[in-house]
Amino acid sequence: MFNYEGIMRGRKKDLRKLPVGPLKSGQDEKILEVLGETVKRLRKCAHISQERIAEILGLHQTAVCRVELGQQSLQPWHLQQLSDLYDIRVSDMLSGQINFWQIAERFGQKPPFPSRYLELAHSKVREFLPLLRFMTVQKGRTFLQRVLKEVDTDLDLHYLRGPDQPIGVNCNLDLIRHSIKGGVLNSDNLKLVVDESRNEDVQGFLHPVYLTQPSLGNLLKSFVLNSHHYDSNFIYTVCEDKSSELVLSVKPAEHMDKVKYKDVELGDYLCRYKREYLSQLSGYIGAKPLQIHEKDCHFHGASQCVYAIPAT
Ligand SMILES: [Zn+2]
Repeated sequence: MFNYEGIMRGRKKDLRKLPVGPLKSGQDEKILEVLGETVKRLRKCAHISQERIAEILGLHQTAVCRVELGQQSLQPWHLQQLSDLYDIRVSDMLSGQINFWQIAERFGQKPPFPSRYLELAHSKVREFLPLLRFMTVQKGRTFLQRVLKEVDTDLDLHYLRGPDQPIGVNCNLDLIRHSIKGGVLNSDNLKLVVDESRNEDVQGFLHPVYLTQPSLGNLLKSFVLNSHHYDSNFIYTVCEDKSSELVLSVKPAEHMDKVKYKDVELGDYLCRYKREYLSQLSGYIGAKPLQIHEKDCHFHGASQCVYAIPAT
């Protein structure tokens, strides 16, 4: 079942955001909450009942329930037992950096989408969150569910809540194709999709990085520097760095020659999206949208897109 609230709220309990060092009041509560969520996700991915986990840990089921709700802690030996069960390190459980798909697979569970979405899994789940949000805001939950059904995908909460989990670029492209076909996405409302991309849960650790850049030039450069964190299908490079202007190139990564991303349905959507994204990036530091001049376009014959962007 697709969890709308999970998408709209994003994953607030990101372990990487937990402070390092001795606990201050309130922090232990948060750690319990995160641990509880991890314990629950692992169990759900492996399709194990709460009752069975209670049996393994020698606890009452009520205790396991309380742990999952973040109301009760686990003893170190319980963590060890769970790490043995799932074949992961205790530190992985505490950091939350777990490949849940792998866990599901290990326990004979299939991911809730076609296997071809696991091929060329250079993308991350967070890349299509803006589009899912956009579709929901524009057309409602039923429309989104219809699109997800059309791409034979059941984006269960347990998969979506890990925005850093890998997924094939084809999943994103199919979702874009269906939203264009369904009449919800067009060149006029592209800006609204980009708006959805500025959420903290989409940007993850980059959100504060962008917010604190001292100038447009720095903002753009930090974008290029970090671009591989959320788009590993295209490679971003600074070609020219003048005080008044930055020239960026965006070219497909090597694996993209196995992906159909230039067809009639998609048109030059990917380029238009990137342009709009770059244009709106200035909003992070309160500057006006940037006027980008595209010198060369990969979707119109060139080997890469080349954008000239005013940096002052
Ligand atoms: Zn282009």
